[in-house]
Amino acid sequence: MTIAIDLPVPTRALAVGAHPDDIEFGAGATLSKWAARGCALLHVVCTDGSKGSWDPDADLARLVAVRQDEQRAASIALGGTGDVEFLGWPDGELDSATALRAPLVAAIRRFRPDVVLGHDPWKRYRLHPDHRHAGFLTVDAIVAARDPHFFPELGLAHHRPRAVLLFEADEPDHVERVDGFAERKIDALFAHRSQLLSTMAIDDPTSAEQIGAFRERILAELVAQGGLAGVTQGEAFKAITDV
Ligand SMILES: [Zn+2]
Repeated sequence: MTIAIDLPVPTRALAVGAHPDDIEFGAGATLSKWAARGCALLHVVCTDGSKGSWDPDADLARLVAVRQDEQRAASIALGGTGDVEFLGWPDGELDSATALRAPLVAAIRRFRPDVVLGHDPWKRYRLHPDHRHAGFLTVDAIVAARDPHFFPELGLAHHRPRAVLLFEADEPDHVERVDGFAERKIDALFAHRSQLLSTMAIDDPTSAEQIGAFRERILAELVAQGGLAGVTQGEAFKAITDV
C-alpha cells in the first residue's frame, strides 16, 4: 500500500477522543506541528474519564475535574489555547446512537475545521468500547455536519471538512512527519498526571528511569510509524480525503 505523507497544514483542526489523553497518544505530535504553523486546535473529549484510576477508593468527581484540567494543560502543551469541549458521557458507557451525535455535529459546525481527527472505529480486536464508539460518533457526526438536512434544530450552517485522519488505524495509509515535535507530544502526555500509572506505567513520577522508559516508548512508536512512509518520525493514520 502506498503511504501518503503530510496533508497541507490546516487552518483549524478538531480532534475527538474518547477520554482525556487519547488525542495526545493518537495525534499529539501532528497537532503540535500544525499549531506551530498557525493551525487552531479544538479538542473534543466524549467521556468524563471517571473510570481512569486503578485506585478503588478514588474520589471520582474530583478525578473528572482533575482530568479536565489536565486535558486543557495538554492542549496548551501542544501549542493550542487550552480549548476543550467535554461532552461528559459516563466513562466506559459511551454509545454511538444517532441522538448522541448532536453535540459533536454542533462542535464541527461551530468550529468549522479543515481536518477532523478521531479514533478508527474499524480497528479490529479493540477491547475498549469507548474507543470504538468514539470513532463511530466521529465519522457519523462528520456526515451529519456536512449535509444540511441533518440536525436542523441546531440552527448551525452545515460544514464539510476537507479530510479526516483516523488514529490507532487498522490500515494506516497516511503519515504526518513529526520530526522536532516528539517532545511536545511527550510533554502533553505528561500533562495527564493522573494517568501516569494506568497508561504510562509510571508509579513514581520522580523516577528518571520510569520517565525515560516512557519517553523511549513514545519515540519508538514515532520511529515505527514514520518508518511506514520511510521518514524519520511520524504519526500514522487512515486518511479519508473524499469527505
Ligand atoms: Zn481512551
